[in-house]
Amino acid sequence: MSDSMVRLDIQNGIAILTLSNPPVNALSHALRTAFSVRLVEVARNTAVEGLVIACAGRTFVDGAEISELGQVNTPMLREIISRLESMGKPSVAALHGTALGGGLELALGCTFRVANQDAKIGLPEVKLGLLPGAGGTVRTTYLAGAKASLELAGSGEMMRADAAGKLGLIDAVFAGDLIANAVRFLQRKISENDIPAPVSQRAGDMPSADPAALEKLAAELCQKARSSAPMLTGQAVKAALELDFARAMQEERRLFDEAVASPRSEALRHLFFAERAAAKLPEDVAEAGTRSVQAVGVIGAGTMGSGIAMAFANSGYDVIIREMNAEALQRGLERVATTYARSVSRGSLTRNEADRRIARIEGTDEAADLAKCDLIVEAAFEDMEVKKSIFAELDRIARPGAILATNTSYLNVDAIAAATSRPGDVLGLHFFSPANVMKLVEVVRGAETAPNVLATALGVSRKLRKQPVVVGVCHGFVGNRMLAARNAQLSQLLLEGATPAQVDGAFRALGWPMGPCQMQDLAGLDISWRNRKALGTPDALPDRLCELGRFGQKAGKGWYLYDGNRERKPDPEVQVIIDTMAAERGITRKLLSENEIIDRTHGPMITEGRRILEEGIAVRSSDIDVIWVHGYGFPRDLGGPMFWDDKGRLRTKGEI
Ligand code: NAD
Repeated sequence: MSDSMVRLDIQNGIAILTLSNPPVNALSHALRTAFSVRLVEVARNTAVEGLVIACAGRTFVDGAEISELGQVNTPMLREIISRLESMGKPSVAALHGTALGGGLELALGCTFRVANQDAKIGLPEVKLGLLPGAGGTVRTTYLAGAKASLELAGSGEMMRADAAGKLGLIDAVFAGDLIANAVRFLQRKISENDIPAPVSQRAGDMPSADPAALEKLAAELCQKARSSAPMLTGQAVKAALELDFARAMQEERRLFDEAVASPRSEALRHLFFAERAAAKLPEDVAEAGTRSVQAVGVIGAGTMGSGIAMAFANSGYDVIIREMNAEALQRGLERVATTYARSVSRGSLTRNEADRRIARIEGTDEAADLAKCDLIVEAAFEDMEVKKSIFAELDRIARPGAILATNTSYLNVDAIAAATSRPGDVLGLHFFSPANVMKLVEVVRGAETAPNVLATALGVSRKLRKQPVVVGVCHGFVGNRMLAARNAQLSQLLLEGATPAQVDGAFRALGWPMGPCQMQDLAGLDISWRNRKALGTPDALPDRLCELGRFGQKAGKGWYLYDGNRERKPDPEVQVIIDTMAAERGITRKLLSENEIIDRTHGPMITEGRRILEEGIAVRSSDIDVIWVHGYGFPRDLGGPMFWDDKGRLRTKGEI
């Protein structure tokens, strides 16, 4: 086994160990065993002065074997690394592709690290609710300092070799034959007698750090990840700063073991697999092939149309937006320009890149200009007659084989498709607002949607770096239908005794970024008001707010009152409206607990989710979790509403 998984070559006194465990050289138990056998061989061989560790295939070690997570099978990675450090011969890790998680930890166990120009490193464990468990945080802190270590391990993002070189994590970056360069590098170091101590003994070289700044950074990372997992990384990095190596390693391990067993990590691991499963082609379209998409048309340059146009332009597509008239088009293009200008002033985009993206978007008020498009996404008013007339027009002008998509939030995609003579080319692409930012796309499969249209839509969504989830046709699809079930309880809770601030507070305590009243104020209460009126399903309390012009933030008042800088305040006027309405209905208001608020909002929403599954509108329960986490801000640490329910609905952030 060791022969095939870890090859040993010796060149002029340098041993080259080449690890091979396709596809990504995951550090499985079998690979660790083979590797440690080879290490003994190399240690004993007196002709060997130094050691290069490299990998076969397209990448260095990409991490641990996820299926073995939590198993304690010797040799553990940290034991191997410690043997590597104490073997008395200098070693160099030769990195190509990506060196991630345990792969980077193994490299940090070497005396030196060298890399190909296009190699990347990373400690992505945090994305699964974990942290490195084999010294990754400790050794990274010693080499690059606490701030860089926390940024790397707390974000889980990958870093390019040149950036890692500047931080001291990589000693040399090469173009050309990596292994030959690594061997020469090590030979030179040996001949110059320039061999530093093992990384575990380099605490003295560590750049200084400000504990308060680290705490702030950890909190920011949690907010960005919408998970409390980066806090654990923060604790491990703090231990690396304050304790000696052995105790810091123990602390990292303790935190790792705690994390592996935590419901939070179980939830994040569930999401990791759920996201991948949702993006896969459904079995019955797997062989369908795809259509080519280069030129994209968007109908409507409102909130969604302009965001959708930017999402496509950001991924290199040429976009043409069609509006009803020149003024509306002008407004839409200005919205696009302002959004890019904001990204430039925030520093997240260069002016040149913004200009390139803007140049990909052109506008027209002529439907005929869409004739050259391969994919046309309609984002006009939410009105069946409007949509039908647009699709009838598209049927006349779109080229044969063009894909015709609607961004409708609620309407029946089959009825829209029936306005054309080519329903097989029609589907829903339900983006979320702001469409250039939000990851989720519900890909709505109509009764007649052709398999290759669905397959193309999934491929295009992935190219947009979105998270697609295939759903079936029903009013509101998966997300908005469950949202309606959740919000249906809101008025009753408020009339019975809760306040908007209390409801929102209960949601935030569970890990939501905002509660339902805050969210409605942000989105505009008038949108659902219009929808209720169209459906003939009034909801007296929010209807009353809308009648008073309380449309939310944009009106300066909704469930809350907003002053100039958008800060929300409870509004006594809203309380009077609630109290009066409760009195009219003979409801005696009483204090409601947070638990009751959560149960009575989340319960009906989960029940609706179960119905959606039974009806086959969602393919899998985990697809519903992905939709809620990516489209509506459901707390990632709870794994999505269905997973959370399956696990017995642990109550608050504090419990996980
Ligand atoms: P919006 O009112 O901001 O924009 C609609 C735009 O479409 C307007 O600029 C209008 O001039 C234009 N338009 C109308 N008819 C047209 C036609 N025949 N040809 C060309 N342009 C036309 O609305 P929005 O919020 O962007 O919503 C658009 C669609 O996206 C709706 O179906 C809505 O349900 C859906 N949607 C909205 C959101 C959201 O949060 N706003 C989220 C997901 C989906």
